[in-house]
Amino acid sequence: MAKKVSCDCGKTFRESTDDGLVAVVQRHARDVHRMELSREQVLAMAEPA
Ligand SMILES: [Zn+2]
Repeated sequence: MAKKVSCDCGKTFRESTDDGLVAVVQRHARDVHRMELSREQVLAMAEPA
């Protein structure tokens, strides 16, 4: 099932797998916000998409 995460900065990420979503959101958080997110944190922010 596809899921999406909406970042506080306005970006939205949508992926068809949990692994893909975790990877892109972790990379965005690290590159743009200098934040390290755990897999659990990313999935807690995810909504069905
Ligand atoms: Zn962001």
